[in-house]
Amino acid sequence: MTVILLVIVAVALVLIVAPLAYTRLRRPRGPELEPPAPPPAGAPGARARPPRARPPARRPPTRPPSAPPGPRPPGAPPGPPGAPPAPIDLDTEAEALLEEVEAEEEAQRLAPPVRPRFRDRLTKARALFAGFLSRTTIDQDTWDELEEALIRADVGVRLTGEVLDDLRGRVKAQGITTSGELVDGLKADLKAALASADRSLRLDPGETNVWLFVGVNGVGKTTTIGKVGYREAAAGHRVVMAAGDTFRAAAAEQLALWSTRVGADLVRGAEGGDPGAVIFDAVQRAASRGADLVLGDTAGRLHTKVNLMEELKKVRRVAERPPGHLTEVLLVIDATTGQNGLTQAKQFAEAVEVTGVVLTKLDGTAKGGIALAIQTELGIPIKLVGLGETADDLTEFDPDEFVEALLAV
Ligand code: GDP
Repeated sequence: MTVILLVIVAVALVLIVAPLAYTRLRRPRGPELEPPAPPPAGAPGARARPPRARPPARRPPTRPPSAPPGPRPPGAPPGPPGAPPAPIDLDTEAEALLEEVEAEEEAQRLAPPVRPRFRDRLTKARALFAGFLSRTTIDQDTWDELEEALIRADVGVRLTGEVLDDLRGRVKAQGITTSGELVDGLKADLKAALASADRSLRLDPGETNVWLFVGVNGVGKTTTIGKVGYREAAAGHRVVMAAGDTFRAAAAEQLALWSTRVGADLVRGAEGGDPGAVIFDAVQRAASRGADLVLGDTAGRLHTKVNLMEELKKVRRVAERPPGHLTEVLLVIDATTGQNGLTQAKQFAEAVEVTGVVLTKLDGTAKGGIALAIQTELGIPIKLVGLGETADDLTEFDPDEFVEALLAV
């Protein structure tokens, strides 16, 4: 009898324990038990970048016994009939999702712009000095060639006179006899004229920085905003572009293209609408989305009319109002306009307290000397230079590189 009872108990135990053991074996393993092997290099899904640090392993949450069974995760094998469904491994799922999002972000990240070289782009400006640079002796013709080149390059009469006087003095005092030494003296004078300026662009962390771009129509404001947006977005800033030139529909269209390309937000208003309202909306949008830089386009028509300057003053006041944090007012000047650019610069500087100049189209002009006139006559630092029409064609103004490129043999 006892033997029969023991057999019955043993059979009952086998019947209870076996399904439980089977269920445990079918359960997918958590990452803390055995991390999944990475796919081999080159295989689909393999990543070129180093693996992300894994979060500390946690046990998959266990469902309370009373909870109703959830849906089966996609791809999971069905359990044996009657067995409870395999639990979802939330850690692995979340991590896979996170990696996917990161990979997507990485693919979308902009490549940093490739900096153009002054030497490659200043061919027209350099051509003016070819006659002077080809001379081997220092005689009256040498001085005449140099004076003509400086004037034609739009360096300005005042600076040209000062440079020639200084060089004549050096030649006498130092006994300079070779043209090479004369060119060295000229380079030193031009570099000195451009020295000691703060060319940094101010962007305060944690603020809704606003950079306004002002200047007459056609100088390259909108294009420059596109290039600057590209540059700053590639550097990791969140950018909002404000189509404040509401008088020119094409400007808003152009900015829309740039914003898409750069991945920046765009705020635009109705055609002919209030530019101040556009800047206001852009600042609000940036503040609410945690963007740290608003690039504001402005109208450039009628720069001789008082109303345009009044409009710009108003836009400036709006940009300054918190949460707006106006840190740059950049005057865009087209280098091909030469000395005309100076007249414009004076008018804008009076109206809106310009913090720096962006000198565009230096690639297509012989009048590169205007860079010297702007700084020496207006005292406004040139901060950026446009050397072409593409997103890459913008660079900081490096006076030494500029002078060396202008006078390269
Ligand atoms: P805005 O009216 O001041 O906004 O001027 P746009 O941005 O519309 O530019 C006017 C023209 O100048 C466009 O054809 C631009 O492609 C061109 N442009 C702008 N910057 C440069 C530059 O640095 N170099 C050259 N070659 N062209 C430029």
